[in-house]
Amino acid sequence: MKRKHEGLAVGIDLGITYSCVAVWQEQYSRVEIIHNDQGNKITPSCVAFTKEQRLIGDAAKNQAAVNPQNTVFDAKRLIGRKFSDQVVQDDIMLWPFKVTAGVNDKPMITVEYKDQEKHLCAEEVSSMILTKMREIAEAYLESSVKNAVITVPVYFSDSQRKATIDAGVIAGLNVMRVMNEPTAAAVAYGLDKRKNDCVDERNIFVFDLGGGTFYVSLLTIKDNIFQVKATAGNTHLGGEDFDNRMVNYFVQEFKRKNKLDISGNAKALRRLRIACERAKRSLRFLVVSTIELDTLFEGIDFCSSINRAKFEEMNMDLFNECMNTVENCCLGAGTVPVPDTGYVIFRKTNACVENCLTDAYMDKSNVDDVVLVGGSSRIPKVQQLLQEFFKGKELCKSINPDEAVAYGAAFQAALLSEDVKNVPKLDVTPLSLGRSVLGDIMHVVIPRNTCIPVKKTNGYATVADNQSCSLIEVYEGERTRASDNHLLGSFYLSGHTPAPRGHLYDVCFSIDENGILTVSATEKSTGKMNEITITNYKERMSAEEIKKLIKEAENYHIEDKKFQRKAEAVNALDDYIYKMKNALKNEDVNIKLSSEEIEKIESAIAVATNLLSDNYKQVEADVLEDHLKGLESRMKPIIAKTI
Ligand code: ADP
Ligand code: MG
Repeated sequence: MKRKHEGLAVGIDLGITYSCVAVWQEQYSRVEIIHNDQGNKITPSCVAFTKEQRLIGDAAKNQAAVNPQNTVFDAKRLIGRKFSDQVVQDDIMLWPFKVTAGVNDKPMITVEYKDQEKHLCAEEVSSMILTKMREIAEAYLESSVKNAVITVPVYFSDSQRKATIDAGVIAGLNVMRVMNEPTAAAVAYGLDKRKNDCVDERNIFVFDLGGGTFYVSLLTIKDNIFQVKATAGNTHLGGEDFDNRMVNYFVQEFKRKNKLDISGNAKALRRLRIACERAKRSLRFLVVSTIELDTLFEGIDFCSSINRAKFEEMNMDLFNECMNTVENCCLGAGTVPVPDTGYVIFRKTNACVENCLTDAYMDKSNVDDVVLVGGSSRIPKVQQLLQEFFKGKELCKSINPDEAVAYGAAFQAALLSEDVKNVPKLDVTPLSLGRSVLGDIMHVVIPRNTCIPVKKTNGYATVADNQSCSLIEVYEGERTRASDNHLLGSFYLSGHTPAPRGHLYDVCFSIDENGILTVSATEKSTGKMNEITITNYKERMSAEEIKKLIKEAENYHIEDKKFQRKAEAVNALDDYIYKMKNALKNEDVNIKLSSEEIEKIESAIAVATNLLSDNYKQVEADVLEDHLKGLESRMKPIIAKTI
């Protein structure tokens, strides 16, 4: 039986180089990125015309080398602009297809189609891509698709937005809304639904490094309303520049090896560029990537390789330029937003550096979330530099960066669509998740309100000498004492290597898209692993119950603080007893001590141990803390001898 999806609404990221379509799947409560007929989740924003037919997407891009004048790309750079705009004039110089001025200074693209000259405006080209995206969705959903949310860059003017809507209409779509790309990405991560603990405004930094453009935006979200505080970028910086660097590198290598220059041969360059892009992508997970091209030029085969370090070196100035832009965007954030269109409020900055004002700024430490968008943000070095800039902050990257915008648009489309009854659910952890550590303390691994999917690994130390196994108890809740929280499950990790206490092992908490929590523990030296899977932890509690638990934790706040202080004092004293015992056990150390001193240590150990074992429940934290202080000062001269 055919599935029914009547009245479905999709989200479309109409990108400069690639487009992506996604849909909210009500029955699975999740967004699905829809793959095209080639099995790809992103489709080149490219249209080609030949003697026989019109091609869109992968088919158009694949024949670009042999039909450059009639292969149109970058239409998004033209949409809603005038032919005489300087940016249009500059771009025209770079394109192999012909652009001329039409009525009202509208830029018109001229191609040859079925042996006839054809004039197209940017809206028409974009509409062809949108039609393709609609067809991709319809083939997958086995139903007609009418409604769509389409995303646009923040800096798009009113006329560019209107032109995008027109393109949608030509494609037979009802454009429910045009949405800002960074907003869509933030929505994809559910950041609009998350609350800060202390303030009710969130600052979100969106880093979008795509195929030919680079934008950063600083958004704030308050009461479900997004505001663009600052935006900066470079309209000609992106993945294609990194490809070009690699192409030039191999052109030089070819010259060196064969004494031949291929730079004048368009076909050879095109083949090399495709191979370079592929190599670049694979450097995300490979350290070295190879290139093999049969009969590249004058019958000569070309075979070479490039490693990640070399790739990073040849692009480092471009990566650094990106980081300067990031900094300048933060610097410009405090300025008064300028209303520019009916849709958003934003401050317009071009190749930003000079334009960003420095009279007011947002400290980068006030940024709550950093979201990665655009295929090129997958480059490990770029991620590393960005994370360093934000002082080690975890980046939001669990959604594929080239799919995040369509993902958020699909969410929005579902919300706006009348046929969708269930509002997309919040994909965040309702309560904190963690494990109990020494002294029954709840050690939180995944804090409340973390977006899923998520994966976090922590190192833990054994608490006794030659401990052979560790008990891992998984709890959820906000209380400091682990046993005051809800125990989800427990398991043992056995097979620790015999070692003094403090031997490290890893525990990893991971929640997948479906809310399935898996906790695994690994003993690194032996590779031994054990894990537990908790499938329905999210569904077990109603919203009311969760609220009640959070409220309860707030009420117990003072008591919990007290408990924590006590547990820490117990652990610190226990640790010191352990140190003293070790000093006695170690023969080299022992020899340096007089029998009187040894006796002193022994009796100190006895008193402290007694304090912990018998009275421990009654004794207040400050008594334990004072005892430790006294002990440390008395033992210091003795212990100093043993070092
Ligand atoms: P757009 O600029 O149209 O929004 P995307 O966000 O999809 O396009 O980005 C496309 C760019 O991302 C291309 O230049 C592509 O080579 C690059 N890219 C995709 N995956 C990777 C990767 N793993 N490593 C480096 N670059 C990548
Ligand atoms: Mg994009």
